[in-house]
Amino acid sequence: MFRLRTASLLVCSAIIGLFGFATASKAAPCTNPDALGTSRTVTVDSNELPRIGTMQYRRTLPLDDHEVVITFDDGPLAPYSSRVLDALAAECVKVTYFLVGTMARANPDLVRRIYNAGHVVGTHSHRHPFNMDRMERARVLSEIDSGIAAVTAALGDERALAPFFRVPGLARSQQIETYAASQSLSVWSADEVADDWHRGITAEQIVQRAMARIEAKGHRGVLLLHDIHPATARAVPMLLQRLKAGGYRIVQAVPPGDRPASLPERNPAQLAAGEKKGWPRVVQPPQEAAAKTKVAVTKKPEALRARLASRKTRTVVAATGFNALFNR
Ligand SMILES: [Zn+2]
Repeated sequence: MFRLRTASLLVCSAIIGLFGFATASKAAPCTNPDALGTSRTVTVDSNELPRIGTMQYRRTLPLDDHEVVITFDDGPLAPYSSRVLDALAAECVKVTYFLVGTMARANPDLVRRIYNAGHVVGTHSHRHPFNMDRMERARVLSEIDSGIAAVTAALGDERALAPFFRVPGLARSQQIETYAASQSLSVWSADEVADDWHRGITAEQIVQRAMARIEAKGHRGVLLLHDIHPATARAVPMLLQRLKAGGYRIVQAVPPGDRPASLPERNPAQLAAGEKKGWPRVVQPPQEAAAKTKVAVTKKPEALRARLASRKTRTVVAATGFNALFNR
């Protein structure tokens, strides 16, 4: 359902090329003739566009009228991430994910399912702290690098990870942005949120707020949602229908360069067994968490492992961090 455009746009002195995937995804072809679909991709070069999203920055993605980029933070988490994936697949919509390191480590099958469905995977720290803007530099670096290492380990191929980073709680700081730039990571804010992390919010309210704010921002924008919430999982199918009815088109933000066509997955029976574990799936005994950390560190990409070793950075798994995440 990709209708690729081979033009390029000049935005704020930055040229961002528009291309399709350099490598075709093995994602199933769209069989729904009435699907919303994904109209085009926008390739985001982190060096050309280091900070994205008008909620916090001057610049955002070069979107035309009635074009929306959908992003999901905080996952993956069964069963909600799976329901969101099903809803996206039903409408042949491709999006960008910002995964949390410990969540990826706990749900590697879901990470690979996200990737193999044709979505882009970036990172959102390791433990999702809400005070990264007040952290000392070493801890900031540890959160960013450990999150990248954990999501890379879940993907199993460092070429599959996009150099896209979103700060937890959008708690940006100069220190975070300077380090991200040094690593050629783009820092993503957003153009619109839909308050889907609020306690008691309904799916209908999420859809209403998303649509109202997209319309208020010139009928376009980068929308931030969270695929770990039941209300969001219920809202996504409705939101896609509203976008389609409103004449909107979906654009997917992708990184430059080649990436693997697909990643190995476990068989469906194994996946189903894993999903039955249900929520919560992140909390682990300290000994088990420490053991998993040790295994994951041995799987880090060589370049990243060398960087981490040179800074003597610790990889930390703390399940307690997710209490704050889920209780927002
Ligand atoms: Zn988050």
